[in-house]
Amino acid sequence: MAFGSAKIYKTPAELRLMVRPGAVTAASLAAVREAIRPGVTTLELDAIAERTIRDAGGVPNFMKEPGYRHTLCVSVNDEIVHGIPGDRVLQPGDIVSVDSGAEVEGWNGDAAITVVVPDPARPELVAARQELADATEHGLWAGIAELARSKRLNQIGGAIEEAIDSRGTFGIIEDYVGHGIGRSMHEEPPVFNFRVRPAGPEVKPGLVVAIEPMVTRGGVGSHVLADDWTVATDDGTDAAHWEHSVAVHAGGLWVLTSPDGGAAGLAPFGVVPVPIA
Ligand code: MG
Repeated sequence: MAFGSAKIYKTPAELRLMVRPGAVTAASLAAVREAIRPGVTTLELDAIAERTIRDAGGVPNFMKEPGYRHTLCVSVNDEIVHGIPGDRVLQPGDIVSVDSGAEVEGWNGDAAITVVVPDPARPELVAARQELADATEHGLWAGIAELARSKRLNQIGGAIEEAIDSRGTFGIIEDYVGHGIGRSMHEEPPVFNFRVRPAGPEVKPGLVVAIEPMVTRGGVGSHVLADDWTVATDDGTDAAHWEHSVAVHAGGLWVLTSPDGGAAGLAPFGVVPVPIA
């Protein structure tokens, strides 16, 4: 997925236009989450997300990626990202990462969740996979909270890394990173989920980024499967992926792809999101 060229900082009017696509993206993921259960296929989840986005007047923006024909990426167990929806049937205990995006009036949202399919017969497996999903989500919120107080974008990588490491021994994928978002789903700048040396661009009103840690139970090596899209762990360990699109504006910070703007997720970090006026 190539980065489109666009200026990094949006105007206040442009930020307002990013609220709807964020909300529609969130709605698509909420609908998919409701539908995840043993026996459902990943293509059925895709149809639910597409209907939700189109009913809201949006367009699934992953379809604008050359060669991609679906609304979602659904990545199961050792798959990290970019899994193609199809006839795969979700099994009890599967760890399922779902990435969705909507374009509304030419502006984009992008977000991902990881859900563990219930499996009463294997509570230990479910608990271990939930722990991985939770550590990844914790890293995401730590990164968003850091964005609220950092001067330079790349400060958030250290916060994400530290938060995930605090939950146990995990691998943070480095081959794939977050990105700016706006008129294109993928824009400059890159958003790192780990500590890097360059400070990165200034954090100031108008910056909108998709932060998306990808985390494994083992190593950070990955490869693309024969379908040319799905990225899986080299060591076969489980992976999780959480993502939000986040706007920095004059009044503060707002998580565009969270129904509450990020209030619940940010509360443990003492950060209160502010709606875009
Ligand atoms: Mg993304």
